[in-house]
Amino acid sequence: MIEMQNVYKKYPNGIIATNDLNIQIKQGEFVYVVGPSGAGKSTFIKMMYREEKATQGNIMVNGINLSKLKNNRIPYFRRQIGVVFQDFKLLPTLTVFENVAFALEVIEEQPKQIKQRVMEVLNLVGLKHKARMLPTELSGGEQQRVSIARSIVNTPKVVIADEPTGNLDPETSWDIMNILEEINTRGTTVVMATHNREIVNTIRHRVIAIEGGRIVRDEQRGDYGYES
Ligand code: ADP
Ligand code: ADP
Repeated sequence: MIEMQNVYKKYPNGIIATNDLNIQIKQGEFVYVVGPSGAGKSTFIKMMYREEKATQGNIMVNGINLSKLKNNRIPYFRRQIGVVFQDFKLLPTLTVFENVAFALEVIEEQPKQIKQRVMEVLNLVGLKHKARMLPTELSGGEQQRVSIARSIVNTPKVVIADEPTGNLDPETSWDIMNILEEINTRGTTVVMATHNREIVNTIRHRVIAIEGGRIVRDEQRGDYGYES
């Protein structure tokens, strides 16, 4: 599903963000990515959805070789992947419904199909009744649930989340985790960078730890492993 071989990333300013990454993630896995700030977690994740390009090495996602992916094919590739951000990145002038529908309108789905699918995913995240609201009318947890609905509306094989609970209180964070768990149970691969020790140590999954741009630990049902 996701494979990296000898992946090296140097930013234009000379910083080497990741060095010799080698991983394999299978369809249906749930993977936490942990490590200190500046370790390279975001870079690792951004390379998976081609937000950043590897300087050297090979990345395969969904059978697509990202080092050979032409720029004009990136939008097509991204549609096969759901992405969830710490700061939600919802469009503020669009309603909840419109934020989620956006990805389907781009691919010119039929309005009837769009409505059905959008309401289905809003129902899954428990927000069907708020479809007409604007993001600013929602709590942080609700905004994150909208962003998760948006990420899965295209039925991607993988959802990539970069600190999805980073801006949320502990209780709301558990709600978000339960939704990601449900998505994973239905067969979607989930890759999630997180600093949330409680969650990693309670809902056990594979843990990949990155330090100084290198993978220092990769354990099935691992623990968080840091004190704070
Ligand atoms: P983490 O997500 O673990 O905090 P990042 O992947 O964001 O780590 O950063 C890894 C290193 O790369 C850090 O030293 C960071 O300052 C640097 N870095 C991240 N993004 C950029 C960028 N766009 N340009 C230059 N350096 C960057
Ligand atoms: P939380 O305690 O999780 O941060 P809030 O107190 O922000 O939640 O919101 C509680 C409820 O009130 C939510 O269901 C939210 O949708 C609704 N709400 C919050 N702000 C507004 C607003 N400006 N207009 C309409 N509904 C709102």
